[in-house]
Amino acid sequence: MKGLWILLVLVAAAKAEKVFFGDQVLRIVAESQEQIQVLQSLEARHEWELDYWLHPVSADLPVEVRVPRANLDAVTEFLHDHNIRFEVMIDNLQELLDEEKAEMEWNRVKERSTRSFNFGAYHTLDTIYSWMDTLVAQYPNLVTKELIGESYENRPMYVLKFSTGGDKRPAIWIDTGIHSREWVSQATGVWTANKIATDYGHDTSLTTLLNQMDIYLLILANPDGYVYSHTNDRMWRKTRSRNTGSVCQGVDPNRNWDAGFGGPGASRNPCSDSYHGPSAHSEVEVKNVVDLIKKHGNFKSFISVHAYSQLLMYPYGYSCNHVPDMAELDAVGRAAVQKLTSLYGTRYKVGSICRIIYQASGGSIDWSYNMGIKYSYAFELRDTGRYGFILPATQIIPTASETWLALKHIMEYVRDHPY
Ligand SMILES: [Zn+2]
Repeated sequence: MKGLWILLVLVAAAKAEKVFFGDQVLRIVAESQEQIQVLQSLEARHEWELDYWLHPVSADLPVEVRVPRANLDAVTEFLHDHNIRFEVMIDNLQELLDEEKAEMEWNRVKERSTRSFNFGAYHTLDTIYSWMDTLVAQYPNLVTKELIGESYENRPMYVLKFSTGGDKRPAIWIDTGIHSREWVSQATGVWTANKIATDYGHDTSLTTLLNQMDIYLLILANPDGYVYSHTNDRMWRKTRSRNTGSVCQGVDPNRNWDAGFGGPGASRNPCSDSYHGPSAHSEVEVKNVVDLIKKHGNFKSFISVHAYSQLLMYPYGYSCNHVPDMAELDAVGRAAVQKLTSLYGTRYKVGSICRIIYQASGGSIDWSYNMGIKYSYAFELRDTGRYGFILPATQIIPTASETWLALKHIMEYVRDHPY
């Protein structure tokens, strides 16, 4: 077994891909605010290279953290010393990643031989982009692919526009994959694009919607990060831009928007996974979206899709104050989640970002809300911590199908409540 591991390490090293052999993801149960404070102090111990999947916020929310194998003893000893309970959520992360990779490889072969696209599989950027062309070719009267700019590493950023005509109709924005490692988000984006295209003309409500409004769907909101999460580091979350004066690359693109920029819940450290960047909209991937939304000027809803935790959230993140439309956003969110749950019983929590998870500044839906786009929401898709970011591909279609019911509810509400 050990020999095989060493071999796999060598193979991965030759490909410059980061490996996670023996890394564990721990689920930590903090029982008091003091324990949360202890866990927050852990975050500052950079030498342990902890990767928080869910940050320590309050005693009633789980904390999930990936611990590199080399530091497992030190970290578990630390937890024991402070009487903090934990369980092993993922025993050996690399094993899950190997399964995921094998599954993708097997699917690639299958897709090639059947000349079909499997919505229940994870795909690379190239495959998703060429699939978009297929969709546009299949539904030329409904779907167009628009270039909104290029990423830091000069990859094109394409948004799919679903429109039956008219000039700058009221529109709905949906983006997936702003955090690259949240793969079920991008996969849900792909499934959703296909769902919109195939249901138009068949589903009366969606047809009515598309006869009045346009839908914009940006599946790969962070293309460089997505590619990097396939080729170099499956756990990559940020953009890939270079930071002056630091060896660490990337900015958290969901701390980079001009909404409470640089405030609590974002880091000024370029090596942090929540680094806000040198200035608001410094990330070209964010700027491209900002420019499109401003230029268009008629978006009525802005929905950003993340994973994981099973939450539907509305503004604000940068402040715990209620937004003026809080009651309405909450009611629409609750009704949307009820629809979602009706399919497979998946349970979601609804609330403002600040109150439901934590204060986080520079987030996209705070920006869109402050731009006057009232119906601004963020989803955190499945699961609640069995697999975290490594959600098995078998769950893609169920996740996308249930999410669709919530998305559709929000979009119908927006259609029926013009402002
Ligand atoms: Zn995210």
